Amino acid sequence: MLDNGEPRNKVTRETHGFLTRDGVSPAEFRRLAHEQMNAYPSVQLHTDTAERITGSDGQFHIQTARGGSFRAKKLLFAAGKKDVLPNIRGLKDVYGKSAFICPYCDGWELRDQPIAIIANGSSAFHSARTLSGWSKQIAVCTNGPSGLAPMQQHELLAHRIPVYDTAIRQIESSGGIVQRIWFDNGASIRCRGIFFAPRLVPGSPMPEALGCRLTPEGTLIVDDNGQTSVPGIFSAGDQAAETYMAVFAAAMGSLAAVSINRELLAEAWAQHSD
Ligand SMILES: Cc1cc2nc3c(=O)[nH]c(=O)nc-3n(C[C@H](O)[C@H](O)[C@H](O)COP(=O)(O)OP(=O)(O)OC[C@H]3O[C@@H](n4cnc5c(N)ncnc54)[C@H](O)[C@@H]3O)c2cc1C
Repeated sequence: MLDNGEPRNKVTRETHGFLTRDGVSPAEFRRLAHEQMNAYPSVQLHTDTAERITGSDGQFHIQTARGGSFRAKKLLFAAGKKDVLPNIRGLKDVYGKSAFICPYCDGWELRDQPIAIIANGSSAFHSARTLSGWSKQIAVCTNGPSGLAPMQQHELLAHRIPVYDTAIRQIESSGGIVQRIWFDNGASIRCRGIFFAPRLVPGSPMPEALGCRLTPEGTLIVDDNGQTSVPGIFSAGDQAAETYMAVFAAAMGSLAAVSINRELLAEAWAQHSD
């Protein structure tokens, strides 16, 4: 396993929604995973970056940033996705501490608190509806034209969810906890949590370079077993999904591992039959 140790949730203090690991830090989660993998002598863990991959099903060749060279019969890409934050002053200070991307991961911890949603259009509307299950103090900040359909605007108003479409000047925070959002017109709103929609980019460009098909959003297309459009190449986790939770990523990894193992065993079986 090649992993350069930059998981998407590195910025957060706690992982939620993964039973038996609720509240564990991402670093501790990985430490436990590595400890358990190390118990298996057939698993080698390398802290390194896969930089170049050539070959095809049955004989891939991987070169790494540290000069490593590996051969593999199959490849499993679980390189995740990267979040590109909107350019808002102060957002980096609160990201992962009181500003999050997934209501189902961090909504409960912000229950009954004043929450700002920084998004526009349908994304803002759906986030507001989802978060209404945790807090009745929600504001939508579209940081420019709202992009909301008239019906969406009407529904937000009916649920007493204000929409601020003035550009955001700055997020004021203390120790990573958001205090206020300031707008260009000098107005501000108080809040204790933010949910926003980052732009997502693939964690690794290599699958595409190897010919794997992607959706227009940059998600690797896989079947139910994690098989991409290229024989011998599999993918799991955020890189091949559009719902982002650690437990989903783990489940996809498990399915792909079973498929890879089955393929390898079937190939070995066929080779050794007389
Ligand atoms: C702020 C935030 C909070 C979150 N909170 C939660 C939560 O509470 N609960 C929850 O379930 N989910 C949460 N998530 C979502 C969760 O982080 C992801 O769903 C999960 O990390 C996906 O796992 P993954 O293995 O697919 O990708 P990642 O965890 O991103 O891991 C990908 C790994 O691949 C490595 N990599 C990439 N390219 C290469 C390369 N070329 N060579 C070697 N290694 C490489 C990276 O360094 C990284 O270690 C959160 C996400 C964010 C951004």
